[in-house]
Amino acid sequence: LVDCGRSVTQRALEADLDLSSLLAVLITHHHSDHVSDLASLAITRFIGGASTPLRVIAPLGPSSRFAVSCLNGYEDQAFYSQRKAGSSERPALDVEPFASSPEPVVVLSDGHWLVQSAAVDHHPMEAAVGYRIQIDDAAVAVSGDTVVCDGVRNLARHADILVHEALRSDQVSAAALAWNASARSVGALAESARVGHLVLTHLLPPPANEADERAFVDEARSGGYEGPILTPSDLDRLRPGGSA
Ligand SMILES: [Zn+2]
Repeated sequence: LVDCGRSVTQRALEADLDLSSLLAVLITHHHSDHVSDLASLAITRFIGGASTPLRVIAPLGPSSRFAVSCLNGYEDQAFYSQRKAGSSERPALDVEPFASSPEPVVVLSDGHWLVQSAAVDHHPMEAAVGYRIQIDDAAVAVSGDTVVCDGVRNLARHADILVHEALRSDQVSAAALAWNASARSVGALAESARVGHLVLTHLLPPPANEADERAFVDEARSGGYEGPILTPSDLDRLRPGGSA
């Protein structure tokens, strides 16, 4: 799971995901829309019977500090009678902070899974990172929030899927584009990195209809990318080979 903003727990349950088998949560940065549901996820997983702490991987800085402390406000009695046989007394997180740099570093290696992370540019938010998740031969790169920069270029290279935030440059302020990516710049990145599919997310301003979504695709296309571009909705699934 990449990031844990509001409603992520609800969406995970709606998607029929088994929270107890969740390998890890990968946090990109400390903005609330990326971390605010972390305690809720850990508690819901605990109530569902998970017997191990929730593994959280986050860059050193405010997001890893937040993860370490996000359950501290709950006293033990908050979980009275909620635990299943075999689980611990209260929910817990196992937080693994790491030092980030624009050169990717391995942050998780587990069976078929290999996850690398690189620092991205969401200044003044420090630290901010993206991830590249490799499962056997398939690679998915996730930008987090960032302008197009060396870190995200390194993660995106030849990825099967690039999930990148995108803003419409004719609809947002120059200040917003100083720390977030225009759809056009993301299209140019997808082309130079030769990714298989481009998935636009974290869309600003939020699209109200299909014409608005098309405007994001058109702007990304103007950046030069000729492959498939998607603007999925919550709970959509992208299957191997690319159909949504
Ligand atoms: Zn952000």
